[in-house]
Amino acid sequence: MAPQLYLHNSLTKQKELFQPANPTHVTMYVCGPTVYNYAHIGNARPAVVFDVLSRLLRQLYPKLTYARNFTDVDDKINAAALFKGVEISQITSKFITAYHEDMASLGVMPPDLEPCVTAHIDDIIDMTLKLIALGHAYEANGHVLFHVPSFADYGKLSGRNRKEMIAGARVEVAPFKRDPADFVLWKPSTLEMPGWDSPWGRGRPGWHIECTAMIGKLLGNSIDLHGGGQDLIFPHHENEIAQGTCAHAGEQYCRYWVHNGFITVNGQKMSKSLGNVLLVRDLLKKYDGEVMRFAMLTTHYRHALDWTEPLLHQAKLSVQRFYRAMAAVDNVNEQPADQDWLQWMDKFCNDLNTPELIAMMHGWATEALGQATELRRGQLKLLFKQAGNLLGILLQNPLQVLQEQLNNTYHKAHISDEVKEKIEALIEARQQARVEGNYTQADDIRSELSQMNVLLKDQPHITSWEIAK
Ligand SMILES: [Zn+2]
Repeated sequence: MAPQLYLHNSLTKQKELFQPANPTHVTMYVCGPTVYNYAHIGNARPAVVFDVLSRLLRQLYPKLTYARNFTDVDDKINAAALFKGVEISQITSKFITAYHEDMASLGVMPPDLEPCVTAHIDDIIDMTLKLIALGHAYEANGHVLFHVPSFADYGKLSGRNRKEMIAGARVEVAPFKRDPADFVLWKPSTLEMPGWDSPWGRGRPGWHIECTAMIGKLLGNSIDLHGGGQDLIFPHHENEIAQGTCAHAGEQYCRYWVHNGFITVNGQKMSKSLGNVLLVRDLLKKYDGEVMRFAMLTTHYRHALDWTEPLLHQAKLSVQRFYRAMAAVDNVNEQPADQDWLQWMDKFCNDLNTPELIAMMHGWATEALGQATELRRGQLKLLFKQAGNLLGILLQNPLQVLQEQLNNTYHKAHISDEVKEKIEALIEARQQARVEGNYTQADDIRSELSQMNVLLKDQPHITSWEIAK
């Protein structure tokens, strides 16, 4: 029997059995980045967390449609374009490409749909018209505003009362608002700003309406799962619920809300003023993408994750250890270790308990690197492969990974690439000869190498080398 998935639902504030409306087709939407600069690790965390969740959902259900948007029109983008004297599309296309590259380095698979706001302006206008017609929104001063008191359940997701919500908005209340909590669906654009024709004049959408309009268009009136960083709960997701529910005659907008925690850097909040905003592409110069992804998974997704040098170092050691364990086994066994797998999946399905999953994998590694029988080793290798596929790690060839590590470990800086290539080609030829049982030839190659001053170190399954001193 397939394990049952439990997720912490921010709406009910408890862990719940996940039951999609249609078990043959699950729908999931995650708020994506506003594309006016490179992604930092705070942007990367939801991408990794919901990539892991999407891999699990694809395993548990026959079909998943996962949409993650790009906000490609926004005041920050407009300001950047104006500053550079270019169209906003020049800014956004550059950073969409960069985002794709960075996320691919972290092993994040592309979602099924990646809608851009500028391609859905008509849907946004349609939904705004609908909200006006139903008495939930009104036009004032070239703006269209959602009237918050028209939706009785407002505040249910964030648990904020009215006073807190108004204080939370922290902006000066425009005089044309009927209620201080009302928020913008559409706003006028000046001539130098990007804008689209609408029944209310040339303008552009507010931020909150875009996600709701794209969900309505691409996934339906009601979706199973909505994700994002916990900083989006208020006001963004609260406003999404208000818009979506009111536009669709009270139909539930989304049934499960899943939010990931913050990332801090050495115990501090990431901020421009502290100068500690870490860009994914800068970190990739120092750390392997797989190690960065692993580091993110060592903390439960709902908890704050503190990004530190020791965390990355430990993640690197763990990834290396798992590859060593996988390399210590030749064959995947035909006889799977069902009990171990069920136990692992149970932890995974318990609100994605990745720290416990990793702890279990360390147990497997201890076995594989110890005295396990051939049968058990084969089972362990299969377990690592299955777990790696779901977590999006350990997908490289273990022997190649280890060979690279060893090559990097021994100091060969003074050898030219040409000589290095020759040495490695000879080592490969020697291994081939040994596999074929041609030991004379293997010995000949070894003596040729030793004349070149190359010392070979044969370890199980791998041969490393260094230049004799
Ligand atoms: Zn959103």
